[in-house]
Amino acid sequence: MISSSDFILGFDIGGTKISGIIADNHGKILKSSRKYTVKHMGKEKIIEDLDFMGNSMIDESGIYPDTISIIFAGLVDSEQGKIISSPNLFGLSDFNIVKDLKKVFHSKVILENDATAAAISEKVFGKGKNMDDFIYISLSTGIGGGIFINGNLLRGNNGLAGEIGHTVILPDGPFCGCGRRGCIEALAGGKAIARRIMENRTMLKESAFFSEIPSGKITAKHMFDAVKKGDMYAQLILEETIFYLSTAISNLICSFDPEAIIIGGSISMAGNMLFKPLKQSIDESLKGMYRDVKLIRSDPETGKIAPIAVSVYKP
Ligand SMILES: [Zn+2]
Repeated sequence: MISSSDFILGFDIGGTKISGIIADNHGKILKSSRKYTVKHMGKEKIIEDLDFMGNSMIDESGIYPDTISIIFAGLVDSEQGKIISSPNLFGLSDFNIVKDLKKVFHSKVILENDATAAAISEKVFGKGKNMDDFIYISLSTGIGGGIFINGNLLRGNNGLAGEIGHTVILPDGPFCGCGRRGCIEALAGGKAIARRIMENRTMLKESAFFSEIPSGKITAKHMFDAVKKGDMYAQLILEETIFYLSTAISNLICSFDPEAIIIGGSISMAGNMLFKPLKQSIDESLKGMYRDVKLIRSDPETGKIAPIAVSVYKP
């Protein structure tokens, strides 16, 4: 067994699964594993799973990393090592996961929010490597992000900066999980797109594409699939989504004047179907105070090594 500071054990605790990796400082993955989560996991069960996954990878690789990093889908206090709130996995709010995991592994443990970690990964390993000012947006079930200014991650007073998903773009819009109304997450996140389709009864009845899918099974990916097949209703939902996103992104551009907006997350996989009209719409919305901001698609591999990036990144 080699105890080493050149390697990192990383966990990504998401809403549906935990991904674990052992990788070197450059993000080269040596071992990986994954385990599906259940909604009511609880604190003991999650520590038990991380213990099992981590030790299995350590045994198989023969490497005992000095550092463990955890990225988590929810609000975290990185300084204290505490999960503040856990919207997807119940029973993990107000939980010092770092303290408990230190008892298991006797290593240094780092905790970071998943979207912040993905932004850091863009800076360390990805498309933001040579940029000082960029904004990363994770477009997935929910919407999150991270803001880099003058080469540094903007943390904010409470370490909670970059919660892009909860900026309001439609004051009377639908309620969001955060308690506000009309947040971009509640309009253009994956869950929200599916909800907007399901609420459109005419569409469910008259669209050749959607009338074939049980309404509870509809996802955001169906919107793109239906547009490809020429479905007019899906095209309208997509155009509306582009409008919401371009409003939110234009606001960010006005506030931070970035060189680029880097978009990752499952919805970014739609590629040009999303990026082309989105870029047009942003340019149109900012034409009075035009600046050429690049709109870049994140490489999915960069997201996989986000737990490594957070321990390599030195602000
Ligand atoms: Zn919100």
